Amino acid sequence: MANICPITNVADLVSEARRVYRETFHGDDANVAVCAPGRVNLIGEHTDYNEGFVLPMALPMVTVIVGSKTSGQKCCVVTLTEAADEPRMVDFDLPNELTPLLRGQPNWANYVKGVVQHYRARPIPGFRAVIASSVPLGGGLSSSASLEVAVYTFLQQLCPDDGDQVAKAVACQQAEHTHAAVPCGIMDQFVSVLGKEGHALLIDCRSLEATAVPLADPGLVILITNSNVRHSLTGSEYPTRRKQCEEAAAALNKKSLREATLQDLEAAKDRLEGVTYRRARHVIEEIERTAQAAEALKRGDYKEFGRLMVESHNSLRDNYEVSCPELDELVVAALEVDGVFGSRMTGGGFGGCTVTLLQAHATERAVKHIQEKYHGSPTFFTTTPSAGAHALSLWF
Ligand code: ADP
Ligand code: MG
Repeated sequence: MANICPITNVADLVSEARRVYRETFHGDDANVAVCAPGRVNLIGEHTDYNEGFVLPMALPMVTVIVGSKTSGQKCCVVTLTEAADEPRMVDFDLPNELTPLLRGQPNWANYVKGVVQHYRARPIPGFRAVIASSVPLGGGLSSSASLEVAVYTFLQQLCPDDGDQVAKAVACQQAEHTHAAVPCGIMDQFVSVLGKEGHALLIDCRSLEATAVPLADPGLVILITNSNVRHSLTGSEYPTRRKQCEEAAAALNKKSLREATLQDLEAAKDRLEGVTYRRARHVIEEIERTAQAAEALKRGDYKEFGRLMVESHNSLRDNYEVSCPELDELVVAALEVDGVFGSRMTGGGFGGCTVTLLQAHATERAVKHIQEKYHGSPTFFTTTPSAGAHALSLWF
């Protein structure tokens, strides 16, 4: 269909990575291959680090790693994806008890090093690896978590751990905290590990339990629109929001905003600064909205689901203040189209993507309309809920 980007299939990513592996490592062939998906969050934004609910799904866009173990302590990793003009190849030594693997240059390699440092089994052998990805970098579809989880899954093939999936997601989250300096919640890594084909995942970020909610209706399309803008605020605003939420929870005498109700918040309104109140209000309402949205999805009530998506967007715009004119414009345009149930920004905000739920027959019309209305140049993907990370056979 016109203007909708095709998603490179996994087999093509693997064969390209294998080709580069052979070229780079003088004819040797890789004997391990893995993939880990990016994600789109349907609803439940900025709730994960408040111990609330989120409802993401894993995407058919994935990060693939092919490679082999080597003897010795050296690791050599190549990425096929252009990441901020940085060199695409990196060498480093495995960490040991005395010498941890620290952050360094190139920046992209920190996502790899962080996972090696936090991997839950030892001894990790030296390795060579090539990374290929169909997840847009920095587009809010979590290329970072998919890279981390792919690295972890790769290491599992070289040096098996106990197979605890939740602990795997937590280790990858730790990697992002310590090595990428992003204090992210657990959502992205969790769904990249545990995503399920044909399902969204309702994750309780307090108990770290997840319920798979069926989402495989041929009459329904999940359209992702990349605004192709990313404002430089992203880096600094995220930690600020986290801090504001912690302050709000403390002011309400709660361990986290998950424990707080709207009544608690209203009762404390006079004591709170306006901005703290609005941040907390978004989080408390969004947690409730996400639980309601999961129920609506179980009933197949897309209209209600869409209504909640729009409420979520408006709250992110007005209370949490993480949207931007481009995302607002995309949402407004999507909602003008007949057959669209709902639309919202997805991911951290200040650029990146929107997610739109619509009737399949309305897709072409929606894409055309959004393209006409949007002042930038958007990219569109239609997506289906896909599987979490797994090893791949090299027999193709
Ligand atoms: P998002 O996770 O929304 O895509 P982030 O800023 O969190 O955006 O992560 C993007 C960064 O992750 C890139 O700038 C790069 O450093 C790293 N990254 C992700 N995927 C790859 C890849 N395939 N190759 C190299 N670096 C990658
Ligand atoms: Mg990320």
